[in-house]
Amino acid sequence: MTSNSKISPDKVSKPKIAVFSAKNWVINSFNEVNKKYLYPISFFEPRMYNKTAALAKDYNVVCVFVNDSVDASVIEILKKEKVKLIALRCAGFNNVDIDKAKESGIGVVRVPAYSPHAVAEHTLGLILTLNRKFHKAYSRVREGNFALDGLLGFDLHGKTAGVIGTGKIGQIFIGLIKGFGCEVIAYDKFPSEDLRANGVKYVDLQELYAKSDIISLHCPLTYETFHIINEYAISAMKQNVMIINTSRGPLIDTAAVIEGLKSRKIGYLGIDVYEEEEALFFEDLSEKVIQDDQFVRLETFPNVLITAHQAFFTAEAVKNIAETTFQNIKEFFETGKSENEIHPHNK
Ligand code: NAD
Repeated sequence: MTSNSKISPDKVSKPKIAVFSAKNWVINSFNEVNKKYLYPISFFEPRMYNKTAALAKDYNVVCVFVNDSVDASVIEILKKEKVKLIALRCAGFNNVDIDKAKESGIGVVRVPAYSPHAVAEHTLGLILTLNRKFHKAYSRVREGNFALDGLLGFDLHGKTAGVIGTGKIGQIFIGLIKGFGCEVIAYDKFPSEDLRANGVKYVDLQELYAKSDIISLHCPLTYETFHIINEYAISAMKQNVMIINTSRGPLIDTAAVIEGLKSRKIGYLGIDVYEEEEALFFEDLSEKVIQDDQFVRLETFPNVLITAHQAFFTAEAVKNIAETTFQNIKEFFETGKSENEIHPHNK
């Protein structure tokens, strides 16, 4: 079945949408934008995986986010339930089996750039906080402890930042960190000539690891980038390196990073994403016993800062996510395709 013949517009007047992993910010922003579209829409609190996918019965669109797992087994269920479109409300699509969706005649759309600024700015926030220890200073001062011991930072000016992945977010991050007077070196599978012309030096990964004081990850999660930060990569890095990951958790081999932190090779780790975050992030687990021992170990290091996949979370981004998602759905149902559709060759 070709993408143009997936759905006949005369048979479905309005797409019926099932939104998974629906938190308050999603419900509020989607309801607001839907005032214009008036599509039938239901919000489901659970994340999508093979035990919850059947909730999509009677819907022709499922809308999912970063920690929903739309693997082959889920797509089998969606196909059986006659779902026609998987609308990702995020940029990354590593959590969807694109080949299987294509084979099943189900379209996949995404929101490629809701706010690269939001993620790049959060990345900078992690760097500044880890370096100048705002989180510790905040608590200390509130408790009447005005001592400076343990709060020593370093000048960003003159340091070398190594950026892996120089797409939309990486490029904005480069602009921000250059503003602090950092030298930037970069690695990308497809280097940008514009960035080169603007003075960014592309190097291979070995050189990037050897020269960078700060390494920031902005590449997608693919078979090639899975565990790109592993034992070997860490051994090639500078002593006391700062590693920042606001991209996808599995770019980092958590066990290897824990060893690097224990040996003090890694001086700072800032992450907004975590390898096994599906079981943790976006939920209030404050009264629960966390079962993930690696995550708990990470939390014990004084030089590790973790945020729970909030880099995208600005008012502008949330509005763009809702608007683009509805626009994608409308386009797909009216024309059988969308400019934000993902095809197997995009992987
Ligand atoms: P993008 O597609 O604009 O840029 C990705 C860059 O990575 C491209 O330049 C590409 O050539 C490069 N790349 C691809 N394969 C590579 C490889 N093997 N090695 C090195 N570089 C490679 O994407 P973007 O909008 O800049 O987003 C980057 C990533 O950020 C997304 O894939 C997503 O995982 C993540 N993200 C996280 C959040 C968050 O809230 N934490 C929000 C949005 C996006």
